[in-house]
Amino acid sequence: MSSLGRDAGCLGVSRPCSPFGDDFLFKFLVIGNAGTGKSCLLHQFIEKKFKDDSNHTIGVEFGSKIINVGGKYVKLQIWDTAGQERFRSVTRSYYRGAAGALLVYDITSRETYNALTNWLTDARMLASQNIVIILCGNKKDLDTDREVTFLEASRFAQENELMFLETSALTGENVEEAFVQCARKILNKIESGELDPERMGSGIQYGDAALRQLRSPRRAQAPSAQECGC
Ligand code: GDP
Ligand code: MG
Repeated sequence: MSSLGRDAGCLGVSRPCSPFGDDFLFKFLVIGNAGTGKSCLLHQFIEKKFKDDSNHTIGVEFGSKIINVGGKYVKLQIWDTAGQERFRSVTRSYYRGAAGALLVYDITSRETYNALTNWLTDARMLASQNIVIILCGNKKDLDTDREVTFLEASRFAQENELMFLETSALTGENVEEAFVQCARKILNKIESGELDPERMGSGIQYGDAALRQLRSPRRAQAPSAQECGC
């Protein structure tokens, strides 16, 4: 997917940034049927505002933002499908090496909910079995048009080992929380040893060589000049 990450389609990096460089970099995906609000969720997270339809100037394909999770600076590098899902042609390279994903359906569309199993299979097969996924029931603000109850979606999430939140890219409700909860779970897994950031394709990179030295003294290398990821 050559267009992803180009400046033209990039929302840019959102501050604040750690003065010491970022501790980690996680690759995140946003997946789910077309029209569920994936691009709006990404836009709301990065820009803190709703992307209204008249604004076509920003092609939301890729964005990054630094967040602070429990004192650690994590740079999220987030990939949006850039409309590929409309043609059911989301490529392997899109999934490769992702550490986390937002799996999005629209609470007012049962069809988008019914498609979740397929998205989940693809994510686990094409990204990693260990990918940390948060299910997002988006358009929470349209409660009167709801076709999927909170309860059934939370059961689905439990059965499939997903975290779950209902979100609104329109009001911003739970948008930041979705990204942060997913990042927190990945950090917890790193700390417990369940996830190894040094494994190829983990979707995780250290932003700070010194941190790597602290965490695994046997594999320590001489500290290199620190790169600020911002
Ligand atoms: P994508 O195809 O999954 O990227 O979906 P978009 O982000 O392009 O959004 C599809 C449509 O849903 C657009 O008309 C948005 O304005 C609308 N939309 C997205 N998120 C929300 C939301 O949280 N609430 C409401 N009411 N509309 C939303
Ligand atoms: Mg989109």
